[in-house]
Amino acid sequence: MVLIRTVNELKKYINNWGSPIGFVPTMGALHSGHLSLIEAAKRTAPLTICSIFVNPTQFNDPADYQQYPISIEEDILLLEQSGCDVLFLPSVAEIYPDDSFKRHFNLGRMEHLLEGAHRPGHFQGVCQVVSRLLHIISPKWLFMGRKDYQQCMVIAQLLQLEQMNTELVIVPTMRNEAGLAMSSRNRRLNEAAQHQALAIYHSLIQIREQLQPGPIQHLEQQAINNLLEAGFSHVDYVSIANASTLEPVTIWDGKSELVALAAAFLHGVRLIDNISLTN
Ligand code: AMP
Repeated sequence: MVLIRTVNELKKYINNWGSPIGFVPTMGALHSGHLSLIEAAKRTAPLTICSIFVNPTQFNDPADYQQYPISIEEDILLLEQSGCDVLFLPSVAEIYPDDSFKRHFNLGRMEHLLEGAHRPGHFQGVCQVVSRLLHIISPKWLFMGRKDYQQCMVIAQLLQLEQMNTELVIVPTMRNEAGLAMSSRNRRLNEAAQHQALAIYHSLIQIREQLQPGPIQHLEQQAINNLLEAGFSHVDYVSIANASTLEPVTIWDGKSELVALAAAFLHGVRLIDNISLTN
């Protein structure tokens, strides 16, 4: 695996390469969820580039940024084992040499729903870094995890806005044997807490099991109660939403595609998860 730290060096490498690229952007602290994106890229693309960059502009909470886990040596080892071709490991100055790279994107309502409502500015930051990376790399395929469902929807919108010739490939959420969605933030939870954290997945499954056409809002409230009873200190949201717009759905017609999404705090760690309710 080639390790590249500067934009110029990466552009030179890509020019010489001259064939389609699969790209996997990450913030590091890699786990098997990230590696499933690398595997998907390797199955599809002749060259796989992974980036590790903890993007300051997408953290609305400075403490969350400060505490974000970093394990670069382990990450490099995992990427080498996974057969990743290139690791791009830029500094903040490489990605944001000046403020012109901190652009504003017109994301419409999606920006203010769910994660957007609870993490103001988060999706602007995500779009800033992803668009910067896409303009540097020009990948044919961009691999992202369904674990961050709203992020996938936002990036699909970004690709349209920027009229980019990149196909978004959404990879299923990787879970541990018990069902907990793999997340870099799980590292901040001990074994007992990771067991407690399963309540988030179980609450979503319970919504799916009890879903019937008609009023469905009580299912959200029941899931919130489950999380609080399981020891979560605060629930940002549990939402049953339209699978493409993410607008809340309170009365289900029995046909439209739905997704259930949740974000909640356990021992100071903010966890998110989602599942499809209709397929
Ligand atoms: P992050 O490093 O958390 O920014 O994530 C980088 C990419 O990995 C994003 O596209 C995430 O959606 C994806 N990802 C994170 N966790 C998982 C998971 N458990 N399963 C599949 N993809 C994931």
